[in-house]
Amino acid sequence: MTKLIDLKKRDSKLIEECAEAIKDGKLVVLPTETVYGIGANALDVKAVRRIFEIKKRNKNNPLIVLVSDFDMLDKIAYGITDIHQKLIDKFWPGPLTIIFNRKNSLPDDVTGNLDTIGVRIPGNEIVLDIIRKAKVPITAPSANFSGKLSIIDPKLAYQEFNGKVDFIVDGGISDIGVESTIVKVDGNVIYILRRGKILPEDIEKLGFSVRLSDNIPSKGNKHYSIGKKAILVTGSNSIDKITNYIDNHSSQKIGVIGFDEHYTLFTEKVNVYIKMGSVYHYDAILKNLFNTLNEAKEADNDVFLIECLEEHGIGKLVMDKFRAICDNEII
Ligand code: AMP
Ligand code: MG
Repeated sequence: MTKLIDLKKRDSKLIEECAEAIKDGKLVVLPTETVYGIGANALDVKAVRRIFEIKKRNKNNPLIVLVSDFDMLDKIAYGITDIHQKLIDKFWPGPLTIIFNRKNSLPDDVTGNLDTIGVRIPGNEIVLDIIRKAKVPITAPSANFSGKLSIIDPKLAYQEFNGKVDFIVDGGISDIGVESTIVKVDGNVIYILRRGKILPEDIEKLGFSVRLSDNIPSKGNKHYSIGKKAILVTGSNSIDKITNYIDNHSSQKIGVIGFDEHYTLFTEKVNVYIKMGSVYHYDAILKNLFNTLNEAKEADNDVFLIECLEEHGIGKLVMDKFRAICDNEII
């Protein structure tokens, strides 16, 4: 039986109940500011193994860990340098996961036998309350089955995980809507292992050199699959390209994922038009991205044409996600 717990008002008794559940080795789906996570006591190997089973996650794919303070960080990680500290001071609590050397207090299963561990202090007060009360680091990989879209809506988390986990916490819709940025420090260089809301330029502003790692562990995994063909429509003449595609593929059920401003141009001509947001509000497009992609997944059509954002800042981040679902199909 899965218990749904509404923690939007941060009721202290309910927080205590969730913290006890975590300490008891139970699995609790948790809200964070990035996306929902499946939480478990990171020090409890049985609970950690259950996460891998439920997510159908490859055992070599390391989990990341949430802590509420530096004492907790010290219990699981060592070798924290001045550079780490500058990143921490600037971005924690928040959506930046930092890779540290790990201590043996953490079971090998958490990190897929790596000698490093990704950690962050999250920026969501509900999950922070729970970690503080539980007094243990919580591992919280994204609450989705491996290879499926991440979840930002507690209702969807309930649909997916009812009957599979012990508790599901409703903390409202996740603020950011995309996973944390993951970084690793090597000498004076900061490598970005996974892109997220904290952008390379945000880190460069602290005076560091930033490089995108070629060795992104989750590269190639179709994390953003929408289960049907998707084509990225590039260039400044995207409206013409979409129009031509529609004219030349009359036998296909065509969908468009496009800007709100272009809805009236295409909605009558296609099977479904999914508004991703305004051309002027990339932040909102990002926040809504998983809902947009979920809607696309549920829609009954053969192919989606996806409009491009300009490739800077948040636009680049969204485009990375689009490229991941388009699998190099470009017109
Ligand atoms: P998830 O928790 O599902 O969002 O996935 C966490 C991701 O973080 C993994 O798939 C890896 O790509 C990355 N990651 C976690 N720990 C490490 C680590 N120690 N070194 C490098 N990458 C890591
Ligand atoms: Mg994930």
